[in-house]
Amino acid sequence: MLTLTIDNKRLLQSIKASSIIGPTQNGGLNRLALSDEDKVMRDLFKQWMEEEGLQVRYDDFGNMYGRREGINNDDAAVLVGSHLDTQPNGGKFDGVLGVLAALEVIRVLNENNIKTKRPIEIVNFTNEEGARFEPPMLGSGGIANIFSRDFVYSIQDKDGKSFGEELEKTGYLGTEKNRANHIHRYVELHIEQGPVLENYRTNIGAVTGIQGMTWLEVKISGHSAHAGTTPLSMRKDALLMSSKMITLIHEIASQIDSNSLVTIGRISAFPGAVNCVSGEVVFSVDVRHPDDSIRENVVEVIRETLSTSAASENFGITISELWEIKTSHFSEDIVCLIEDAAKERNYSCERIISGAGHDAKYMNHIVPSGMIFVPSIDGKSHCEDELTLDDDLIRGTNILLDVTLSLSQS
Ligand SMILES: [Zn+2]
Repeated sequence: MLTLTIDNKRLLQSIKASSIIGPTQNGGLNRLALSDEDKVMRDLFKQWMEEEGLQVRYDDFGNMYGRREGINNDDAAVLVGSHLDTQPNGGKFDGVLGVLAALEVIRVLNENNIKTKRPIEIVNFTNEEGARFEPPMLGSGGIANIFSRDFVYSIQDKDGKSFGEELEKTGYLGTEKNRANHIHRYVELHIEQGPVLENYRTNIGAVTGIQGMTWLEVKISGHSAHAGTTPLSMRKDALLMSSKMITLIHEIASQIDSNSLVTIGRISAFPGAVNCVSGEVVFSVDVRHPDDSIRENVVEVIRETLSTSAASENFGITISELWEIKTSHFSEDIVCLIEDAAKERNYSCERIISGAGHDAKYMNHIVPSGMIFVPSIDGKSHCEDELTLDDDLIRGTNILLDVTLSLSQS
């Protein structure tokens, strides 16, 4: 069978056109969900979809869809896309690549007069980033029934403007019946946002899932004291104790499994003065692992070890769980299609687990889903110097084309 290939120049031009909508001073993007800039980008995307003859519609979360009919229009559609909103100091590729690559797939099919068995729909999900309206992934989470519509509409940004009002203002408030509802598979192309693919010089990541995580909050109580009058031997310094615990947490994680990740990203010492021994310290622990049972074991051992070590030195300790989310496993058939397509095109490809959340995570609750990753230079993302090289953008989009085509012919 003839191998279709995307139009490299056209793909890069679409990304360039998006790069000037909400630009920041140093080459990034500031295109918060449902902002004026987001509306300009949505208008352009809508125009592009209409030029390709797609049936454009929006749902009650403002998710935008463009549908290309297949031979059997009663068959469930293949859904492809990502998000066009960005962080306030975001990059040009996060999310944008997935939506504009989906559009490029449609353009290639159209110019080659390819008829697919199933319909294909492309999608731009609302507020993936969660930078303006927290939590993230409200559009995909809304249609996956993770969040109720009332809850989503009531969320306010920092200026007190609600999601519901702001959505209405953009003109992209649609209806519930327009949600993606008869879907065969969901596929999303995205930049990796981490350093792994670049480090191993791998072109394509076949994403197997999104790893689960646990957030703990640890509170250590000792005695606050005067820095000048209390001998070291007579102190109960909660910060010193915490620093030993942080070292322990890292040892536990690497001993149990080398793929465990632990991060202490937030720490507060009280009373927090230069000349005071800390009487109390509160710190966070973020634990991640692709395997839920190993992650749960790491959390359990951290809890036990910290409690024992606090007790042995007479410190008070409370450990509370702030949040837990299980690992999502993507559809094995999509992982295999990605690997086959990469092999066919002579691109190097490895299986990889996503460390970050994506719309595919929530879509996977309602339809078998999958993701394709391309390398991020220096692993940088959510910043102005986020970069994926042109060749990688092109390779990723070619794989998206192959996978979409296979799924829509089955
Ligand atoms: Zn993203």
